[in-house]
Amino acid sequence: MDNLISLVNKIQRACTALGDHGEASALPTLWESLPSIAVVGGQSSGKSSVLESVVGKDFLPRGSGIVTRRPLVLQLHKIDEGSREYAEFLHLPRKRFTDFAAVRREIQDETDRETGRSKQISSVPIHLSIYSPNVVNLTLIDLPGLTKVAVEGQPDSIVQDIENMVRAFIEKPNCIILAISPANQDLATSDAIKISREVDPTGERTLGVLTKIDLMDKGTDAVDIDKFGNSWSHFTWGFIKGIVVEKMLEGKSYRLKFPWVGVVNRSQADINKNVDMIAARRREREYFASTPEYKHLAPRMGSEYLAKMLSKHLEGVIKSKIPGIQSLINKTIAELESELSRLGKPIAADAGGKMYSIMEICRLFDQIYKEHLDGIRPGGDKIYNVFDNQLPAALKRLQFDKQLSMENIRKLITEADGYQPHLIAPEQGYRRLIESSVVTIRGPAEAAVDAVHGLLKDLVHKAISETIELKQYPALRVEVSNAAIESLERMKDTSKKATLQLVDMECSYLTVDFFRKLPQDADKGGNPTHSIFDRYNDSYLRRIVTTTDLKSSRCNMQTGSTVLSYVNMVCASLRNSIPKSIVYCQVREAKRSLLDHFFTDLGKLEQKQLSSLLNEDPAVMERRAALAKRLELYRSAQAEIDAVAWSK
Ligand code: GDP
Ligand code: MG
Repeated sequence: MDNLISLVNKIQRACTALGDHGEASALPTLWESLPSIAVVGGQSSGKSSVLESVVGKDFLPRGSGIVTRRPLVLQLHKIDEGSREYAEFLHLPRKRFTDFAAVRREIQDETDRETGRSKQISSVPIHLSIYSPNVVNLTLIDLPGLTKVAVEGQPDSIVQDIENMVRAFIEKPNCIILAISPANQDLATSDAIKISREVDPTGERTLGVLTKIDLMDKGTDAVDIDKFGNSWSHFTWGFIKGIVVEKMLEGKSYRLKFPWVGVVNRSQADINKNVDMIAARRREREYFASTPEYKHLAPRMGSEYLAKMLSKHLEGVIKSKIPGIQSLINKTIAELESELSRLGKPIAADAGGKMYSIMEICRLFDQIYKEHLDGIRPGGDKIYNVFDNQLPAALKRLQFDKQLSMENIRKLITEADGYQPHLIAPEQGYRRLIESSVVTIRGPAEAAVDAVHGLLKDLVHKAISETIELKQYPALRVEVSNAAIESLERMKDTSKKATLQLVDMECSYLTVDFFRKLPQDADKGGNPTHSIFDRYNDSYLRRIVTTTDLKSSRCNMQTGSTVLSYVNMVCASLRNSIPKSIVYCQVREAKRSLLDHFFTDLGKLEQKQLSSLLNEDPAVMERRAALAKRLELYRSAQAEIDAVAWSK
């Protein structure tokens, strides 16, 4: 039993520690799926007696007639060495029995409570747990005996009912069947063998037990000797085990995988005299050692041998489960680890540690943000799209040629001249025309600033959600996000100012060279004595604005040496310089100093405020603590199980 105890203890430590720790885990169920042991057989065949001797305790009602009238599910729980043994019933929670005679009485009383003091039988089990340092964790099941006929006070269906009840317990593949047959009855008609063969045809989980060997000797009961032409007492056990059992089952080979074990339990007289387990064991040993027929078989007979066989069998079954337990533990560990890493590390308690953590998380965020701008992550290319498509398209839509319609030109030039028409060239008129066109570039310039600002903001949101560490701290997440957006906002304002200034600069000072080349009327051989009214005629005005005049081109005039071409030139130059201003003021700054203000403010925070920034979702904290604890348990379970596996 020792091997089994230590094996089971190790696995037990591994499994139940995990099971005890709240959360549903697959392991306790796995533990439950470990073998249970059920005794089956006819009435008074000695089932309860055998079960008691396997457990090594006197606590079951035994006797002639129908004593066991409800299934008894007995759970043995190993407790720490030195602790006091006790028993507990499921129907009497928190009542601890330390007197096992009282346990027996309670089984009887509880049986009566369900069935009345009749010979009724109930399939409702009694659940009893025994806590002891001297047991292994096992489930044992004592069952009512199988009968052949109903007796007075029992319904006719009783025979079938009991059989069904017994079958329900023993058909589970993890149930080890102790098939009890009294040696003083005809084995050929053994109910135990019949029903065991039904549920375990190969005999792999059935242990055959012959009780009442002592009675057989005395020939108290009618033994069917004629059938085999011999007396039971003359058979050697080897014979019984092999040929006879096979013959008994009418040629249908039902050879159990394990040899039959003969036992001698306490007789009714012993029970009446209160012979204890130890004395009974000794008597049994003496019996097998001194009876000539069994002498040579003595080491393989008796309750102790049965217990040993049983534990060896259990050991095998349990060991076969080890790889399954191992892989389950390994799988769970991997799952726990990955969930823990998803939840992130816990935060240091002191202010310095907190500050460090915050900076570290911000650095990660900043890194991701830069990666978006630098093209390592997507999104930065959209900014170029603003410069390459949106801005040029918007500039194009300004349609300077339409702005400089004949009507507008006349209006502006006339207005600029005021009461005194220009003498040589409409200088003021030029200025106004140019200003009025160039100033419209402010619109697209501003739009470009806003578009880039929008994109930079999107990237903040993206980077925030991509910074796994920020998920852990909702408050910090909000703060970092707000700080970044505020920074962008500031950069946008600066950028807008600078970019619009570029436009305004173009309005405030015209490139003189460009106009120096403008032909004067006289140069072109025109008539300087044009009347005032001629000066405002269409062809004159058109010349101011466009280059369509053939004569002009002939007179060595540069293409574009008119208002429209000047405006176009300015526009082309702004088209190049606006992106520069935007990148300088917004993109480059965002890369350089997105969180600078935040860091400055951070330095002024008290420990309490730092803590509140790092306030985790309490559910996350709880979850992490629980996971960490489970992980620790599983790791130690893994070590235990591995040790068991190696010692195989
Ligand atoms: P169950 O009804 O199958 O649970 O059988 P019990 O364990 O209650 O035993 C029925 C009766 O047979 C009791 O009076 C026991 O003392 C007696 N008995 C059981 N096994 C043996 C045995 O090996 N030898 C003798 N002499 N009596 C036994
Ligand atoms: Mg019984």
